[in-house]
Amino acid sequence: MTAAHFSQSYREARQRFLAAARARGATVESHAHPLKGAEGEEIATDTALVGAADAAHLFIVSSGTHGAEGFSGSACQLALLHDTLPQRATDSGIAVLLIHAVNPYGFSHLTRTNEDNIDLNRNFGDFSQPYPANPVYEEIHDLLVPGAWPPSAAIEEKLTTAMARLAKQRDPGVSSGQAVHPDGLFYAGTRPAWSNKTIRAILRAHGRSRRHIAWIDVHTGLGPYGHGEKIFGRHSPETLAREQAWWGRDLIVSSMAESVSPRTMGHITGCAPEECPGVAITPTTLEYGTLPNPAVRRALRGEAWLAGHPDAPDALRKEIRRAVRDAFYVDADDWKGMILGQFRAFALQTINGLAAA
Ligand SMILES: [Zn+2]
Repeated sequence: MTAAHFSQSYREARQRFLAAARARGATVESHAHPLKGAEGEEIATDTALVGAADAAHLFIVSSGTHGAEGFSGSACQLALLHDTLPQRATDSGIAVLLIHAVNPYGFSHLTRTNEDNIDLNRNFGDFSQPYPANPVYEEIHDLLVPGAWPPSAAIEEKLTTAMARLAKQRDPGVSSGQAVHPDGLFYAGTRPAWSNKTIRAILRAHGRSRRHIAWIDVHTGLGPYGHGEKIFGRHSPETLAREQAWWGRDLIVSSMAESVSPRTMGHITGCAPEECPGVAITPTTLEYGTLPNPAVRRALRGEAWLAGHPDAPDALRKEIRRAVRDAFYVDADDWKGMILGQFRAFALQTINGLAAA
């Protein structure tokens, strides 16, 4: 595993993923997105299946749910395709399914959200029910996404004060999600996004006949530099016990105060039990730290502001996109080494866990 597995653009990441998957003898499928990428290229969610279509156990690794966070997940997938671990998995009756670029539009255009400014990790809920109100977000929306960008010093001061007051609010917290401001942060949307429908179709095709599915969805942007936090979502106590047995006591329960992430609704892995009823599911979010929180927040605010100002000058647009890339992808060898090293240990634990399940 080397830092060379990291790509510098979605287009490069996709080409390398497809080439490595084919070289490995994987079954490759592509789900083309209706829009184009930042370089005018075709964009898609691609899958690579290593191992038998009828293997009892399935190990899923997905990347790019949050668009530009995909540089790391893609590198983990590419490293895995060059590793001996998939062989170890198939020898143990486990097929490996890599889902590349859940949100290819955001990966290519360097946004965390999708083509409609939807945060996909808030989009997998039940749309027959209203999305829960988020008074904590509501309180500071106008400070987070001001009328002009970059924001004035007065707005920054007010926001810093407000964030200090709201930082401990977790249920809901600022980033729990909201469905009121389409030009805001953590916007859940009002219907299932393209990626939502695509991921559900992939799960139905590849997951329904399995006995047990483990799923690692790779993210970046929260927590200490280079540290991979294994986050446990809203699942059963039995699933928690199993995950702690597989992955260790450093698994973090998202509802606990120590988590880097607050309570969220509409999480992507939540669709696995819905699409694969009767299959045991062991899901997690792997969240790697990048820059300090205020820098990441500022990048997200710029992205949201741009979503509401599509006619912004080109130079400002480029600056905002660059800030998003830098906030979610640290282009430094020490960081890349931490990402891949921790991922390999996590993947091995997952294969060992599934093999004994
Ligand atoms: Zn993320």
